[in-house]
Amino acid sequence: MKIDVVTLFPEMFDGPLGHSIVKRAIEKDIVEVNRVNFRQFGKGKHHQVDDTPYGGGAGMLLKPEPLFDAMDSINEREPETKKRVILMDPAGKPFNQAMAEEFSKEEHLVFLCGHYEGYDERIRSIVTDEVSLGDYVLTGGELAAMVMIDATVRLLPEVLGNVASAQTDSHSSGLLEHPHYTRPAEYKGMKVPDVLMNGNHGLIEEWRHKESLKRTFDRRPDMLASYALSDQDKKLIAEWEREAEETE
Ligand code: SAM
Repeated sequence: MKIDVVTLFPEMFDGPLGHSIVKRAIEKDIVEVNRVNFRQFGKGKHHQVDDTPYGGGAGMLLKPEPLFDAMDSINEREPETKKRVILMDPAGKPFNQAMAEEFSKEEHLVFLCGHYEGYDERIRSIVTDEVSLGDYVLTGGELAAMVMIDATVRLLPEVLGNVASAQTDSHSSGLLEHPHYTRPAEYKGMKVPDVLMNGNHGLIEEWRHKESLKRTFDRRPDMLASYALSDQDKKLIAEWEREAEETE
């Protein structure tokens, strides 16, 4: 996969791209990440990239030309790839695991990072997706792009040592993930559930599924509406609902 990030602050990506799993994916050539500083396409002696808004108002806006020129430079460098051009936008579609899975199947992702008060509206004519990290406003699109790159790259084939670990992650299976334990078996009086230590894989799977369901029921009941519940799941949920009513 190829990724281009169009940004005024390419150094911000040193941390996330230079450590751990994403770093290894780059070293193994599973993903190539280019940072394009669109300041180089700025106008005039000072490479101006922003200007005041027509009609007045607070803040500076990113001008269209440097962003269009940055995109042209990517198209010239990579004329053949099919690109998904993703605008970082607090007014965009909220990012989620399903989107990360979709992005991980693409050939070439281009992330456009806004800054200041935002960008000239005409930039939207070259984007395929407008995506938000969440319902809050960041100073720039860089942190949002880093999160999206991280969530996408870990899903690429051969990036994670254990593929199954991504499949059972919270939000991948449609449920939140079950609790995990490692050694020691007892710590400060807190014991690891017996079922995890008896080696019976059928029982362990059953326990994990039930814990996943319970955690989702307790913390994110909205997710259950789109999960294919088995008859046994429905019985458990009815039981927990009764218990919750009794304690009210
Ligand atoms: N005035 C803009 C608005 O109200 O929509 C916010 C501009 S924000 C200060 C600057 C840039 O940061 C945005 O253009 C966008 O690229 C990025 N940004 C801010 N919050 C974001 C979020 N929640 N998700 C994705 N990008 C965000």
